[in-house]
Amino acid sequence: MEIENFKGEIRKHEPLSRHTSFGIGGPADIMAYPSDRDDLIGLLAAIKKQKASYFVIGGGTNLLVRDGGFRGVVICLQRLSTIRIEREYRSIGGTFSVIYVEAGALLPKLLGFAIEQGLTGLEFTTGIPGTVGGAICMNAGTAAGEIGDVVDAVTLASPDGALVCQGREELGFGYRTSNIPAGHLVLDAKIILRRDDRERIKARVKEIQDRRRQHQPSGLQNAGSVFKNPQEESAGRLIDAAKLKGKKVGDAQVSDKHANFIVNLGKATAKDVVALMEIVRKTVLDVHGVRLEPEIKIIGEDA
Ligand SMILES: Cc1cc2nc3c(=O)[nH]c(=O)nc-3n(C[C@H](O)[C@H](O)[C@H](O)COP(=O)(O)OP(=O)(O)OC[C@H]3O[C@@H](n4cnc5c(N)ncnc54)[C@H](O)[C@@H]3O)c2cc1C
Repeated sequence: MEIENFKGEIRKHEPLSRHTSFGIGGPADIMAYPSDRDDLIGLLAAIKKQKASYFVIGGGTNLLVRDGGFRGVVICLQRLSTIRIEREYRSIGGTFSVIYVEAGALLPKLLGFAIEQGLTGLEFTTGIPGTVGGAICMNAGTAAGEIGDVVDAVTLASPDGALVCQGREELGFGYRTSNIPAGHLVLDAKIILRRDDRERIKARVKEIQDRRRQHQPSGLQNAGSVFKNPQEESAGRLIDAAKLKGKKVGDAQVSDKHANFIVNLGKATAKDVVALMEIVRKTVLDVHGVRLEPEIKIIGEDA
């Protein structure tokens, strides 16, 4: 692919298993790492000219890539990862900081920055991996909060490379969704956090870390919660009550620690995971009459 003045990196036939927390996925025809916005805009123009398909990957922590991989360009924004305080202001309830963060910054890094600066509002992200762009797209969060609660505005790039600024109301944050149009890329965000005592923030983070260690599988590759929680219910509880903990297809297994996690025991394929997800959906429907919807995104083609 010819991209004018591209300064970033292009990799061909890049195995996506290296870029997903499941450790699963066939190759991308092209994986592109723009080094700045001009690179990205040039890349989008080249993609459009060649009528290629594209997909933007964050940390790949909510992603199942099929075994045949992705035909087209996978765009990775990890080189756009600036985090800085833009300004501070006083208002009812305290002193607030507006953080400017680029989409490729890791969410745990943003949390670390907030702790360091004595800023509260992101503690709920403790233990959520991936990038800020992925978190905004998914409205990542827990019962304690969602990223949409602290996002003030984002800059999006359209498939034509036009940059658009959207405020929180336009982003339509819902339970693990936003209405960011398909094909648009999150480039950066403004996040509003409040000043607080650093030791109190650290204590809250530690409490969440401890709880996560107790309830979630560690040491085995996974993509977090596989299914969304149905209204007023927990997908994990339904799967557990359907006696599916430990259920296996190939090397994909319903975690025996948290039933809404599927873990890769070593050599799981996307085909194994999809087959296991189907068993879980069908069994939960038969036992509880509840239709589970996937939280993880599935892309690419079968082998
Ligand atoms: C151990 C573990 C625990 C987890 N716990 C939680 C949890 O508590 N709560 C929770 O909500 N999630 C959780 N997750 C899931 C996951 O970490 C989050 O959904 C995360 O926000 C996804 O970010 P990512 O960068 O990895 O996105 P990816 O998985 O790479 O992508 C997810 C989606 O976002 C899109 N996307 C990524 N970046 C951009 C961008 N810049 N612009 C436009 N679209 C983009 C992708 O195209 C894709 O559709 C967990 C995952 C793991 C492995």
